[in-house]
Amino acid sequence: MAPSALPTALSLLEAGRGVRILEAATVGGATSHGNCGTITPSHAPPLAAPGVPMRALKWMFTPDAPLYLKPRVDPALWHWLARFTARCNSRDWMASARARAALLDDSRARLVQWIGRYGLDCEFGETGLDYVFRDRRNFEHYVAECAPLNAMGIATETIDGADYLRQEPALKPGIVGAIRFPDDAHLRPDRYVAELARAVRERGGVIEEGCRVEAIEPGADGVRVRIAGQAGGRGERRGRDAVVAMAAWTPQIIRPLGLRLPIQPGKGYSITYSRLDRLPRRPLVLKDRSVCITAWGSGFRLGSTMEFSGHDSTLNEVRLTALERAAREYLQQPPDASMIQEKWYGWRPMTWDDLPALGRSPKHPHVWLAAGHGMLGISMSTASGQLVADLMTGRKPAIDPAPYRVERFQ
Ligand SMILES: Cc1cc2nc3c(=O)[nH]c(=O)nc-3n(C[C@H](O)[C@H](O)[C@H](O)COP(=O)(O)OP(=O)(O)OC[C@H]3O[C@@H](n4cnc5c(N)ncnc54)[C@H](O)[C@@H]3O)c2cc1C
Repeated sequence: MAPSALPTALSLLEAGRGVRILEAATVGGATSHGNCGTITPSHAPPLAAPGVPMRALKWMFTPDAPLYLKPRVDPALWHWLARFTARCNSRDWMASARARAALLDDSRARLVQWIGRYGLDCEFGETGLDYVFRDRRNFEHYVAECAPLNAMGIATETIDGADYLRQEPALKPGIVGAIRFPDDAHLRPDRYVAELARAVRERGGVIEEGCRVEAIEPGADGVRVRIAGQAGGRGERRGRDAVVAMAAWTPQIIRPLGLRLPIQPGKGYSITYSRLDRLPRRPLVLKDRSVCITAWGSGFRLGSTMEFSGHDSTLNEVRLTALERAAREYLQQPPDASMIQEKWYGWRPMTWDDLPALGRSPKHPHVWLAAGHGMLGISMSTASGQLVADLMTGRKPAIDPAPYRVERFQ
């Protein structure tokens, strides 16, 4: 639990509300733990783009492709895919991109404020982020895509391969070019989540770990939440409002309330290593392989892939090997097995319009949703939390909440 729940809790505490977070496992133990920690206003364009269905079809037959769908009978998945595919057109692409940009830009600015205000010690760096290419056609394709990004207010710099290698000696020869997003940033996500949790507790918020929510029972003037503790001990908590921020687990919990939230788990993998001497100065996306590298003072991480295989909890070695292969292809000093600290997977909470559901439930006035942040839960975290808290406390939100309304899925 993290970017969805903790920033909402912090913003509510600031507004004078009491908060209790019920976490089934440990804070920051799920998707927010091993992700790449990039803060990317540059990623405003959604996954559903013209041409993606054809590319995805091709990738279905490639076991180590960056996007993979495990063919199976699953009506919820096929419904999700049909809605996703229908959005792969320029008009819907632009609508999602604008709404994502609003959340990402507000979040990027707010994150700097929060880091200062709450003293969040999370290896934050405002270095920008680079897409790097070894394949010239791919590079030219992405250079052509910069114009629509610039029109959306996303700054880019195009750098020639030779120049880039002079700037970035950690990379092997063979880079044909790079695109820099100077306004992007990064942090260490596990540290960020731990620091948010500290700030919540210091302001009087209560975080109960090992406390699984089994059911939410809304009433006329509040909510009752049934819980099962780790030791099997059952109980209940009562409150004025409940915010459901359970990422890929949200649909199951809200279904009995007659609420729909089409979230598919988009499984991604990462490998975390101890620090190397020669590491890239800023986060890189090795675009030809769709692999991200983020280096911090405390180590570095390779992460990638989007696998639609349901709530599958196996660590697929083929995918992990693809990460290592990309690192060997690009890095002068690739990591070796002795440096591995952790191999990890996480389920990105993916909605078909690539926007989170933020706001009040249309059926139950005391039930709120903050889920479905997809590939960008860290990047959207502060704006998303502030928005939900503002809606709950009747404060005018900083951005228009309409695109994220829960009603669009009912
Ligand atoms: C490989 C990979 C790389 C990524 N890189 C980036 C990146 O660079 N930048 C970025 O912005 N985003 C990135 N993401 C996406 C980001 O990690 C997610 O969007 C984000 O972590 C989602 O946060 P969340 O709080 O919604 O979900 P989670 O962190 O998954 O939290 C949900 C919590 O709900 C709890 N829960 C579930 N069921 C119950 C229940 N019944 N009762 C109580 N608690 C329950 C879970 O235990 C969990 O702790 C990446 C994701 C992956 C997989």
